[in-house]
Amino acid sequence: MRKALVAGNWKMNGSLEANRALLSALMEAIPGHDAVDVAVCPPALYLPSVIAQLQDHAIEVGGQDCSDEKSGAFTGEIAADMLREIGCRYAIVGHSERRAREQEDSLWVARKFVAAQAAGLVPILCVGELLEDREAGRTESVVAEQLDAVLDLAGVEALSSGVVAYEPVWAIGTGLTASPEQAAEVHAFIRNRVAARSTSVAASLRILYGGSVKADNAAGLFALPDIDGGLIGGASLDADAFTAIVNAAVGVQSQESA
Ligand code: PEP
Repeated sequence: MRKALVAGNWKMNGSLEANRALLSALMEAIPGHDAVDVAVCPPALYLPSVIAQLQDHAIEVGGQDCSDEKSGAFTGEIAADMLREIGCRYAIVGHSERRAREQEDSLWVARKFVAAQAAGLVPILCVGELLEDREAGRTESVVAEQLDAVLDLAGVEALSSGVVAYEPVWAIGTGLTASPEQAAEVHAFIRNRVAARSTSVAASLRILYGGSVKADNAAGLFALPDIDGGLIGGASLDADAFTAIVNAAVGVQSQESA
């Protein structure tokens, strides 16, 4: 059975004080789980203080992005080695907000995936279609292009220590969630596409769903066969909501293992 992962993407939110309060509440409410990994991805500037506060707690930490370059003259960039050195376990790569705002294309994202993995991080590769893509029937071709860029550059085996997050762009921060059928369809598509290169990697690959996951829809989504947890934006800033989402994942995992 795949271990679920629930990761909170704080985006450009928080302050030293707000982070401390949020983490204290999460540390109390979320014990270490054998069935579910939990992570938070704060803005880079807050990583050291978040990592210090979470020391000895099972909640792990990730960066929201990393450079595709190892070091050098790249003003403003953060290398994957730096994230690893200060204690991150994960790095999100290819979030749709960065693909859109920073014009990160799929090859660039694939290079970030490779850089993260080379540094010992677990990359969380975000893929997903725009509303216009879905309406034009292009969901699978868009997701395939984003996924194939990593498969082609890194090789399928690289995904055995990576994570994919399917995040339909039209569902991010909008309150719209993919219906269980829509999510299940794309998750199955992703797993099958990986399986075409390696069935064993596909079988063990964690594929998260992201896009307006809330306390009240998490369990329904996580119960779907190819969904192995979630990448949570807005709701990860609320201790009660994030805890409820983690508990939903724990509940689904324990039903599946019973
Ligand atoms: C995200 O940005 O990764 C995300 C899923 O956001 P939200 O949960 O707010 O839709």
